[in-house]
Amino acid sequence: MAIKHDVNAGQRAGRPIVLDSYGRLSRVPETGELEKIETQWADNRKVIERVGATLGEELKDGLSAWKRSVRRAGWERLLERVESGESDGIVVWHTDRLFRQPRDLEKLIDLGERGFKVYSAHGERDLADPDDRFILRIEVAHAARSSDDTSRRIKRRFATKREQGVGHLGGPRRFGWPGKDLTWVPGRGETDGDRPDVPPGLVEQERAALRDGTDAQLAGIGQGTLANEWNAAGLRTALGREWIAVTVKSVLLRPTNAGLIEHDGRLVGRIEGEPIVDPDKFARLRAMYAARRRGRVVGESYVGTGILRCGHCGTKLSASRKNTVHKDTGERSAVYFCNKQRRGCGKVYGDRRAVDHELRLLVIARQSDSRHASAVAAARARVANRLTELHEEITKCEEIQTALSERLGLLEIDVEAFDRGNKPISARLGKLRAERDELSGGNPDGPIKAQDPAEVARQWDHGDVSERRPMLLSALGKTLLYLDPATRTGAQTFDRKRLRPVEPGRSA
Ligand SMILES: [Zn+2]
Repeated sequence: MAIKHDVNAGQRAGRPIVLDSYGRLSRVPETGELEKIETQWADNRKVIERVGATLGEELKDGLSAWKRSVRRAGWERLLERVESGESDGIVVWHTDRLFRQPRDLEKLIDLGERGFKVYSAHGERDLADPDDRFILRIEVAHAARSSDDTSRRIKRRFATKREQGVGHLGGPRRFGWPGKDLTWVPGRGETDGDRPDVPPGLVEQERAALRDGTDAQLAGIGQGTLANEWNAAGLRTALGREWIAVTVKSVLLRPTNAGLIEHDGRLVGRIEGEPIVDPDKFARLRAMYAARRRGRVVGESYVGTGILRCGHCGTKLSASRKNTVHKDTGERSAVYFCNKQRRGCGKVYGDRRAVDHELRLLVIARQSDSRHASAVAAARARVANRLTELHEEITKCEEIQTALSERLGLLEIDVEAFDRGNKPISARLGKLRAERDELSGGNPDGPIKAQDPAEVARQWDHGDVSERRPMLLSALGKTLLYLDPATRTGAQTFDRKRLRPVEPGRSA
């Protein structure tokens, strides 16, 4: 389809340069919005004006013109005009509007060998010039490749970024990658354009944290512990925030750390060069999280949650972080409380640090008490056979779960297949573990001999929450531990009598 303009065609000598304008209806890849032909033509007219040429014909093709089977009236008209010498050149937004395939360009080159120019956002290319032809061929090859399919387009974007030496994956800077410093605030007279890159030394430090963090997680160190370590080392998120467990987890689970480019959960490419984190370790880490995803352990980050009970209503206590810190250590404060959201009465609160201090003393006292130890041993002997059975079955289930997780981590199965396989095993494991904990008093592997109090203290002080909880469970055995409501005396210190052990069979 062509709109005829009043052009003195055919008389080459002495006439002004005639440029045709070509538009093709297309969509912006990122947004899917239509790029209207009228807009393209309007922009092309500005180019024609700028180079002092005369507009020849305005040509256009429709949305489906990129398909190989569809005839393109505008394109064919252009070839006619080039062949006849009526047109000296063509103006397009981008060369990918004009050429579907490299062969389109070759056709135009054959016809326009005497001299034909292509104007686009990339500049002016003269088909008679071998260097320009070379550049056009590269542009067209790129455009053809980019329209092939989504995954290849994504890859190309990463490839282009690499070629540009950007070194990260587009978008705002991410932890462990170079890029603009997102924490930078413009000073007087500065604009966002002055935003500096983060120093390479920081990127290296962050990469070391990702590597060490992955190792630590695989060795069983908790995310909360890592968050504290990273904060203490002065590391912050890319946006300058302090680390918490959940952000540590999300940053360690980024596939790009292992050089993997994923799209909708599928592997679509790999980043060239040495990955930050060993891909095998990353796969194991992801498998570990996948296996844990169901049935989060209650009270992961507090020693007493799910163990301590409300002295008023008997509900197991929850814990919550507060927005204040302990003045002496700067440690974030938290409270144990009876949670109405969990059908509690909401009447009992206790400072986490004060309560944990009492729990430590209780554990040391009980674990070093020979009477307590022999009671544990006797209780365990009574149920030894059943415990052995449970232990074997739990191990079997855990092995299957690990195998499933590893296959997910290696992308041999997808998340749905993992869930299908894991769901029944997870449910079975939950029942088995509950029975084991019931029989063993919560810590089947705990000591059954009295220990040196100094040794118990050392274990407690060097352990994190995941180590202290089994110690507490072991020390309690079947004893229930209640936290009574505070009496309103106005005293600032924690009244240790509020923690009240109740032996089994007695009323709370
Ligand atoms: Zn309560």
